[in-house]
Amino acid sequence: MTSIRSMMVFDTSVDTGTFARSCKEWGVDMPSLHPGFLEDDRMARALDAQGLRSWLNLPVFCDPKYLERHPDAYVITSLGRRAAEDWLHFVCPSRDDYLDSAIAGLRRHLARLSPAVVSLDFIRHFVFWERIALDGPSAGIEDGCYCPVCLSRFEQDCGETIDRKDPATHLHRQLLQPWADWKCRRILEVAERLLAEIRTLAPGAALAVQTVPWRESDLDGAIRTRAGQDVPGLARLAAMVAPMAFTQILGQTARWKEQLLAHVRASTGKPVCFYVQAEALYRDGTITAEQFDAELTHARHSDAAAIMVFHYEQLAVRPDKAEILRKHFRP
Ligand SMILES: [Zn+2]
Repeated sequence: MTSIRSMMVFDTSVDTGTFARSCKEWGVDMPSLHPGFLEDDRMARALDAQGLRSWLNLPVFCDPKYLERHPDAYVITSLGRRAAEDWLHFVCPSRDDYLDSAIAGLRRHLARLSPAVVSLDFIRHFVFWERIALDGPSAGIEDGCYCPVCLSRFEQDCGETIDRKDPATHLHRQLLQPWADWKCRRILEVAERLLAEIRTLAPGAALAVQTVPWRESDLDGAIRTRAGQDVPGLARLAAMVAPMAFTQILGQTARWKEQLLAHVRASTGKPVCFYVQAEALYRDGTITAEQFDAELTHARHSDAAAIMVFHYEQLAVRPDKAEILRKHFRP
């Protein structure tokens, strides 16, 4: 895979012509869209007009619109509540009806766009990793899914009966390993099914998976026990892995990011994507123009297969940072 220069965009009301021209001007050669941009042809036409390729990013289990119509499909978390926090509304991974509906959506969307890359985002169980300290305790991490469908399926799989009054405590104290393995297997099954469909619908597209920015040794193995991600297993299904290593969000350093990406590359044998954050999120503080510049320098000197800038709306109102991006992407 050649080095890709991408940037995420979220607001479907952006002027598509301005967006595509900005990408071209700043040297972004493969903007990353979510399916909300494919309800009509405007974005696909605007990118075509600038000769830009596209990256379709699918937020697999994060689907607030579906959950508005099907509230019974919400994840039930380890605290016994619906997984609806801020923008993160999570669908239970065991719902086959939801998968059928996601595949119908894929067919509709891939009829509008011929992306060069398709990635599976939110291909995991519920955790709000952005708010979890890497050096904090793993015991209090709120995860999913403890809904009746998941519990019944797991009972059938492992032959044990789960305490319905406090399933999270029972599972974590007595059945942690089989529970983690079951969660990981379900995520792999879903990824396999979606990627097989994408291979048929978009035969030329390179496939990627987004992963939580935790190593297997972080937080007592929470990437498997909580997020249900078997990263090497997911990587086998794709051409690239995109660990969401947002340095500022997690209060980490450039060295941490370098080591995490090296770990994912070594443990999967697959090229990785390097995320670059334009503005601060979740924690106090700012990302200065100098810090943004330094992270882009770091990204360019890494051997990442793709650089993903997060995100357009922030750069559109910061011409100084947009100019820094242009300097790196169109030197
Ligand atoms: Zn569930």
